[in-house]
Amino acid sequence: MEKQTLISAVATELPEHEMEDTACNELFYERTETEYRLAIRAAAEQVSGFLKNTKKPFSGIKPAALLAEFDNIRFDDPLPDYKSLFEEVNALYIKHATAFHLPQYIAHLNCPVVIPALAAEVIISAINSSQDTYDQSAGGTFMERRLIDWTGQQIGYDSQCDGVFTGGGSQSNMMGLLLARDHYALTYLDHNIKLQGHPANANRFRIFVSEKAHFSNQKNASLMGLGEQAIVKVATDDRFRMDATLLEQAIHHEIENGNIPIAIVATAGTTDFGNIDPLQDITRIAGQFNLWVHVDAAYGCGLLLSEKYRYLLNGIELADSITIDYHKSFFQPISSSAFLVKNKLHLNIIRHHADYLNPKEQDYDELPAQINKSITQSTRRFDALKLWFTLRLLGKQKLGWYTDRIIDTTEEAACMIEASAHFELLSHSDLGVLVFRYLPQQASAIDTCAMNQHIKQTMFFNGEVLVASTRVNGRFYLKFTILNPLTTIQHIQNILTIIKKHGKDYEQRHLVAAKS
Ligand SMILES: *Cc1c(COP(=O)(O)O)cnc(C)c1O
Repeated sequence: MEKQTLISAVATELPEHEMEDTACNELFYERTETEYRLAIRAAAEQVSGFLKNTKKPFSGIKPAALLAEFDNIRFDDPLPDYKSLFEEVNALYIKHATAFHLPQYIAHLNCPVVIPALAAEVIISAINSSQDTYDQSAGGTFMERRLIDWTGQQIGYDSQCDGVFTGGGSQSNMMGLLLARDHYALTYLDHNIKLQGHPANANRFRIFVSEKAHFSNQKNASLMGLGEQAIVKVATDDRFRMDATLLEQAIHHEIENGNIPIAIVATAGTTDFGNIDPLQDITRIAGQFNLWVHVDAAYGCGLLLSEKYRYLLNGIELADSITIDYHKSFFQPISSSAFLVKNKLHLNIIRHHADYLNPKEQDYDELPAQINKSITQSTRRFDALKLWFTLRLLGKQKLGWYTDRIIDTTEEAACMIEASAHFELLSHSDLGVLVFRYLPQQASAIDTCAMNQHIKQTMFFNGEVLVASTRVNGRFYLKFTILNPLTTIQHIQNILTIIKKHGKDYEQRHLVAAKS
């Protein structure tokens, strides 16, 4: 018998005239409204189950065991109904998905998300506007523009600013470097890279970043054909922020060697330490050398929401371009990110006219086209609607309160780690990252790096606590990234107790082994 619908309950609920044509009843259109509603409700039930059943941030499953579960999947044999599908997806994915909403998830820059943004996702995917041109988005275009303007205002930009939503910080950083490069060549070499490709001396272009800047800068330099050699890493101070004096020296040094400084990338909130480069010093130095300043605020953008800590971003308004990741620090689901420029005219550098989308003769005020501002995407999700839902319902104040709580909890945790003889803390944080390691409690031949690796690994495969790690001066450290306003100092204390327990176990076993 032909199956009527994938949601078994629907068959009886469908009005008679809709029973006739079952050939396309999985398609989203006016006759499948019931099927749509039931499917979305059933999917939401799965999410509720995830919230109710997930007690640990990770199941602890090993890759080989999980991969083995995929053995019997055959795409040529579709499943009979949603029930079977949900069972399969639960077994393969949901059951083992990393739970970012639990305080015991304290690893990477994955924030818990706010519910209004999840409601927006339902609309975004179903209505499926594409943000490239007005005729594919209409109101979506203006909502995105208003949110970019709002973000610009929080930064302290004037009405000359502009920008666009992007897929993430790496992409936004790419736009910053690309504009910096092309702007340099146009302004100082009278050379149009967009049309002519690199000038002969492009291999001498130099971009200054701190040693703790995000790796996407190197990747982007390489993608742009400048090569990673174009990136000059400036050493950091005792809080792992770019050292402005060394920056100035590095610029002089490159010029003396015949190289051509074109830009500085300042990081507002490093991935590893959550600290903010000295933005005012950096923009002052950039001014002396006519360099483009891009501020990578992928992480630190959350400070825009805070009254208490907004001052930490002072100077950001002087940057030529900025990366903002709402999916890092605005409690937004992936993806939600933006690229902003102080002077909207700079976006003209990358504008491309396609006859079928945004022909040159088109009047932009009459038919606005966001594609004119986007480098790497044409068809583009209406991610902005999530932020719209969030700001309209929660307001900036509530998000700012979340942010303040996170920063205050982190500082309390930093003091706790610092005060303990069991741990070594590398730095306090402007945001929510703490890098530290467990120390052997007996002077012995214990390898501290191996011990901390063991602690991280054990907690991961127990699924009890997920922490991140990093290397500093070749040494292995554990890393907490706190992004959850529900995380309390008590949670942190419990996590530290677990870390100590695994550390002591490791030490005990190795001391015994050394003796025997
Ligand atoms: C996460 C991060 C990025 C990259 O952003 P994605 O959204 O992951 O592409 C860039 N810079 C910093 C400082 C980051 O923390």
